[in-house]
Amino acid sequence: MRRRVSIFGATGSIGQSTLDLIGREPDRYEVVALTGASNIVRLAEDAIRLRAEVAVTADEDRLQDLRDALSGTGIEAAAGQGALIEAADRPTDWVMSGIVGFAGLAPGLRALRHGGTLALANKESLVCAGPILLAEARRHGATVLPVDSEHSALFQALVGERMDTVEKVIITGSGGGLRDWPLDRLASATPEEAGTHPNWDMGQRITIDSATMFNKAMELIEAHELFDLPSDRIETVIHPQSLIHALVQYSDGALMAHMGTTDMRHAIGYALNWPDRRHLPVERLDLPRIGRLDFRAPDPARYPAIDLAWRVIETGGLSGTAFNAAKEMALDLFIGRSIRFTDMAPLVARTMDALESRLEADAITLDMVRDMDARARETARRLGEQAMATR
Ligand code: NAD
Ligand code: MG
Repeated sequence: MRRRVSIFGATGSIGQSTLDLIGREPDRYEVVALTGASNIVRLAEDAIRLRAEVAVTADEDRLQDLRDALSGTGIEAAAGQGALIEAADRPTDWVMSGIVGFAGLAPGLRALRHGGTLALANKESLVCAGPILLAEARRHGATVLPVDSEHSALFQALVGERMDTVEKVIITGSGGGLRDWPLDRLASATPEEAGTHPNWDMGQRITIDSATMFNKAMELIEAHELFDLPSDRIETVIHPQSLIHALVQYSDGALMAHMGTTDMRHAIGYALNWPDRRHLPVERLDLPRIGRLDFRAPDPARYPAIDLAWRVIETGGLSGTAFNAAKEMALDLFIGRSIRFTDMAPLVARTMDALESRLEADAITLDMVRDMDARARETARRLGEQAMATR
């Protein structure tokens, strides 16, 4: 029996790597839905090549373009948020949650209802609504598998072990494209400079988030949610080569590291083949050629985003939603050249300060998450505009 699979965010970096693996073994998979946004040509080409049941663009205005591109193929075309949810309602065994940002939450949550596997690249789902997502998975007997390379690495290093023997987990980060810039030059960094990564080839937004280490901050929260660990048992360390993705330290002092090349097809393939392992077309590490591995602690002055992660983990409630929404808005403003690289973290901190009294909550619902997301975006936009006006 072929496995029924859907790929949300199929036209993006994670989505394309997923399609690469699936396309190599067409007899194993039946492609249900592929989704994208503005890149209609790629979406339609992939839907035709992989014989998808339906192709969905998030952009309502592009429905006719998608219909034209798919005319005569028998593949359904659909557009908009409702269509994304409808696509998630189609029965599947395995779903890639590869949309970027808060927009990825709703389709992933919906897909859990089939009780299959949700391969989770969309880290925002866990940062904004971790408890909701994991409870929904339990309710439907679904499995959430991490696709973020660090969390896939932790997951693999934890196989067969008991969580009460884990002293701490360590996730590594490259330090991003501006790691070696003098501190006083950071304020002048452009989106192009911040959007260049030394090791990984990823989407623009996550690449800039690597330069600020907002990406690592998100991943600390993600680790807290996925593995149910308190902040004092989670660490991050800068590792410029990005070859060790994460480590687990056990109570006997053993440190289990997961190593591999910087190719997301490893983590995606692990989630695709789990609990099995199958051959993957990723480059093998040549240790003598690598020669050395370096590590250093992240400098809080260079990476203020990391402190915000600890704040979110300790506050809980809706603080992750506010943090993520403010970060997405700060990133929009930086990409639009309205604020500077070094304005992003202070803007997120000020947004969280402004919403302080609303961040703590015992039980969060999806409506509360949506409401906080909208409120935090609005607050961040207003504070960002004020800061621009007084400059
Ligand atoms: P990307 O920008 O390359 O692709 C994003 C995808 O989401 C595209 O298919 C796009 O069409 C779709 N999309 C964008 N906005 C949308 C919206 N409003 N509604 C519906 N669809 C929308 O991003 P990416 O780098 O592939 O990242 C995807 C997710 O995976 C992110 O959450 C990211 O943090 C995570 N992730 C990525 C990598 C990586 O190597 N790229 C690694 C780890 C985690
Ligand atoms: Mg990662």
